[in-house]
Amino acid sequence: MRIGDIEITPLIDGEAVVPGAATFYPNLKEADWEPYTDLLEPVFHECLHLNTLGGYLVRAGDRVIVVDGGSGPQPKWPFAGGGFRSALASTGLRRADVTDVIFTHLHFDHIGWASVDGKPYFPNATYHIDRRDWDWFLGPDFSFSETEVEKSKERLELSANYCYPDNDAPAVRLRPIVNQIEFFTGEQEVELLPGVVALDGSGHTPGQVVLELRSSGEKGLMVGDLVHAQPELIDDNERGQWNFVSHTDYDRAYAAVEHYSKRICDEKLLVAGGHFPGLRWGRVVQDGGKRVWEDIRG
Ligand SMILES: [Zn+2]
Repeated sequence: MRIGDIEITPLIDGEAVVPGAATFYPNLKEADWEPYTDLLEPVFHECLHLNTLGGYLVRAGDRVIVVDGGSGPQPKWPFAGGGFRSALASTGLRRADVTDVIFTHLHFDHIGWASVDGKPYFPNATYHIDRRDWDWFLGPDFSFSETEVEKSKERLELSANYCYPDNDAPAVRLRPIVNQIEFFTGEQEVELLPGVVALDGSGHTPGQVVLELRSSGEKGLMVGDLVHAQPELIDDNERGQWNFVSHTDYDRAYAAVEHYSKRICDEKLLVAGGHFPGLRWGRVVQDGGKRVWEDIRG
């Protein structure tokens, strides 16, 4: 994928195998997916909401940027992964070549390759982190078990233990890179690197940002976990059926979804999600008065 002179390559780490198409959305009925079944994947004789995990390699000028980093080398069911390393190798780059790492937010399935075995995974990179998420995930009030594990037990009806806090807690993953961090605050628009701008997308987490790529008059959005499936960008969400399970602030999260959905549609922006199947890009087009998702292929 190219946005002007910027080149973007998906770095697939793995996938979350989510049983049932409505699992991630507490207000959703399976029937709500019916208009969008072409966006589901048939796996094990049923349709699955496939959540791909990983990140993106963004080459902008002389910068070699990794945006988000999957769930790490040893994920726990329903997260399957460990492929990030090979995905990066397939581009011909080594981890030492990466100049910058940007996290859209600090959930464990995005920072899994920040460090491995207590050492920075990208030894020469500057890690760009929104101060609002740092303060939340590494603050004194943050309880990894309550926020990530117990909530999942109650609301996702998945295993109560879908990650390993000893490896995956934000403090464990991020402390080793503390000397390489450059903080920013995404509340206001901030250009992190030439052509790479962070915009506020908070609500999923306090410091979730949307990255806008700008080059040669073209624009594209990397929305991270603003949304987890394409229907969130095109459905009217009348009953709050597309409110994702783990938002820290639902009202704020949904206001952000509405704001960016409108921009994506009105400005015909190319868009990449944090978990769209295959980390494929797409766009939203108007078709007979309704919004339709269109995958970019090739
Ligand atoms: Zn995520």
